[in-house]
Amino acid sequence: MDLDVGAVGQAVSTGAVPPGGHIDELLSRAYRHAERHREGAVADYIPILAQADPEAFGLCVADVEGGLHELGDTRTEFSIQSISKVFVYALLCDAYGHERVLDVVGVNNTGLAFNSVVAIELNDGHPMNPMVNAGAIATTALVAGDTPERRWTTVLDGLSRFAGRALEVDDEVYRSESATNHRNRAIAQLLGSYGRIEGDPLAVVDVYTRQCALRVDARDLAVMGATLADGGVNPLTGERVVSADVCRDSLAVLAASGLYERSGEWLFEIGLPGKSGVSGGLVTVAPGKAGIGAYAPRLDPAGNSVRGQIATAYLSRALGLNVFASDPHVSEERNP
Ligand code: GLN
Repeated sequence: MDLDVGAVGQAVSTGAVPPGGHIDELLSRAYRHAERHREGAVADYIPILAQADPEAFGLCVADVEGGLHELGDTRTEFSIQSISKVFVYALLCDAYGHERVLDVVGVNNTGLAFNSVVAIELNDGHPMNPMVNAGAIATTALVAGDTPERRWTTVLDGLSRFAGRALEVDDEVYRSESATNHRNRAIAQLLGSYGRIEGDPLAVVDVYTRQCALRVDARDLAVMGATLADGGVNPLTGERVVSADVCRDSLAVLAASGLYERSGEWLFEIGLPGKSGVSGGLVTVAPGKAGIGAYAPRLDPAGNSVRGQIATAYLSRALGLNVFASDPHVSEERNP
């Protein structure tokens, strides 16, 4: 897919996002730029998602100082879907430490679709990374709690602390996905057959399905992303949610696999860790600077929001967020 970034100059990182008024202006330009794009299709493999308004579009930047910059449908709620994976993963790394999670869940891109069964078979039953369904289900299986209900409470509390408000499940989405998630149940059973899940695989899928059905809006995603950008401290509530090391590790995993089989192209154009979900949400993290939350339900073939990617590509360039960008003149100004 063409991200249409040709006309935007590459601004270079200064170590902070530009002052407020400037962000609002660039946010507005990014929004108008992406709004013209109508390609892609709303997800329908979870029946209720097909009812989303294809024109809905919200864009929000939350900086690490607690500043919020919003445009469009930033208060329209939708189910978080796969974006939950990164935050559950971060909570798990915080509880168990990097090494154990690395061993059990992995960090390498599968190069295959997010719900691939073949990827599991090709890797001797290893789920490979926490951003595809197999790895996310294996991650949720490890969450602390001796019953599914307790595990669910840990997930719900943790994701709510990232958002800085009490999140709730969208029951319609939960029921719609529960009635049709044969593939996720197959993935969990397959992981169980390889000894990668302890306990009842279907009970784990149920917690995973609930976590995917949590309602958020684009503003929540920006704040959740800003918490990962701010070394684990929510910039709105001031609460520490996870450690700074966990943020670094989680963002590295996102950089490698946050946009599934399109992760390489995403990193090439945008140069930031990001995570998409099939309902049209997209969170992007500029470490030390800001989180960007986008909502636009039309998706590319890999399941990533089209307008969300285009607006984020614009913002990454215009705000100087790409972590790979440098310029000798900027360094000279800083260290004459
Ligand atoms: N709940 C969805 C699923 O498991 C999440 C997928 C996604 O957002 N890519 O299929």
